[in-house]
Amino acid sequence: MSFFYTPPTLHIIGAGLSGLATAIRGSRTHRIALYESATQAGGRCRSFYDKTLGEEVDNGSHLMLGAYNRTLEYLHEIDAQDTLTTHSPATFPFVNLKNGSNWALHFNRGLIPYWLFDTSRRVPKTKLIDYLRDLNLIRKAGKDKTVAEAFIGRSSPLIEPLWRPLTLSMLNTDLEEASASILWAALIRTLIKGEKACRPLLPKTTLGATFIEPALEHLKARRATISYKTLLKNINSNEGHITSLEFAKNTVKVAPEDSVVLAVSARRAAKLLPELPIPMDHNSISSLHFRVPNTNKMLGEAALLGIVEGTAQWLFHRQGMLSVTISNSAQLDRKDKKNFANEIWQEVIKATGSPDAPLPDYRIIKEKRATFAQTPGQIALRPGTQTSYDNLYLAGDWTDTGLPATIEGAILSGFKAIKLMEKNRKKQG
Ligand SMILES: Cc1cc2nc3c(=O)[nH]c(=O)nc-3n(C[C@H](O)[C@H](O)[C@H](O)COP(=O)(O)OP(=O)(O)OC[C@H]3O[C@@H](n4cnc5c(N)ncnc54)[C@H](O)[C@@H]3O)c2cc1C
Repeated sequence: MSFFYTPPTLHIIGAGLSGLATAIRGSRTHRIALYESATQAGGRCRSFYDKTLGEEVDNGSHLMLGAYNRTLEYLHEIDAQDTLTTHSPATFPFVNLKNGSNWALHFNRGLIPYWLFDTSRRVPKTKLIDYLRDLNLIRKAGKDKTVAEAFIGRSSPLIEPLWRPLTLSMLNTDLEEASASILWAALIRTLIKGEKACRPLLPKTTLGATFIEPALEHLKARRATISYKTLLKNINSNEGHITSLEFAKNTVKVAPEDSVVLAVSARRAAKLLPELPIPMDHNSISSLHFRVPNTNKMLGEAALLGIVEGTAQWLFHRQGMLSVTISNSAQLDRKDKKNFANEIWQEVIKATGSPDAPLPDYRIIKEKRATFAQTPGQIALRPGTQTSYDNLYLAGDWTDTGLPATIEGAILSGFKAIKLMEKNRKKQG
């Protein structure tokens, strides 16, 4: 008989942010066994060395906001809160590439949104009443309506300069197809909450240095095992209880007291649990990184720049690199890479008002399934955390978090899985 308590094992499939968040929280009470099919952790939020640019790049610029409370908790837990830069007061500059006009949303500090009363802080030629009326239309639209349908029979001067880019960047889905209710869920946590909730938070260096490496260090210190190149192919069960996990190369027994969290992408989850309704439609995001020696000369002190009426949508910069994000970018699939890079580079020059310059070294990264398509129909398919198996839980940005498919949603889903697992274990005694 042993006098030492051996904690049960928590088996986590997928080392994206939802799986890592599950592991970090779960390691307080469980032994962690994390299985990842790729050669590295991070999933859709990762960094890698790029030979052409000669440095670590991200698979795409990731913008977080002050409202990302779970993300900040996660970073605090892995002692990585200092790896982010917070841009305050929150300011979102925009430029219209067609007519050259530019403006910025300048939020004011404090809870009362004075900025809405100040013409120089909002979209030009708009009135306070436009914001109030439009927000009310989005709020009232209901679960089965798209953002465009929320505006049926109404015109608004804010649709093109504000709601279109905001919907696309928050939901990676065009306004004509995006769910009004999930946009509202995002707006009440950000725009409506005020300046602090809207502050742009950006990694000082890379996504890997912010989210992944400190998490792996934290888990290593807690003796978690992490297996890469380990693809889960099948889940075996007996009487509603998971008994073993069949990987491509081996089978792992799940002891009766153990739990399993499936934190894989939606499509993989659908293969493993075919009986479950899961959102299967996805939208892509294309990112272009340009090597630019002095990014400050082009973008100044701004953290980011929104581009309207162009192909490029957002411009970010960090030392030596300008990066363009294009959400829901499927229509660009067949473009010749060099022409495409050149076209976007010309837009960058125009948007930043920079003197003409030859195309610098660049890298294009296309994430075909960047997020699920956040339409009313797909949102309705999001499953909850609990499955029909008593020791199997779901995590992932596509599960029913009530949030858009984002870093915050992914991390929240992992925390939710642990909370529910602990609750069930308490019930079972
Ligand atoms: C280009 C791009 C830009 C983005 N921009 C933003 C942004 O600005 N702000 C924001 O908040 N969010 C952004 N996102 C969304 C954000 O990256 C995701 O919401 C988040 O990373 C999803 O994490 P996840 O753990 O749910 O899924 P994933 O990252 O997909 O993790 C799933 C993991 O499971 C592994 N896996 C799959 N199947 C198996 C299997 N059978 N066995 C073992 N392992 C398996 C995968 O390899 C992967 O590592 C962006 C995404 C992309 C792609």
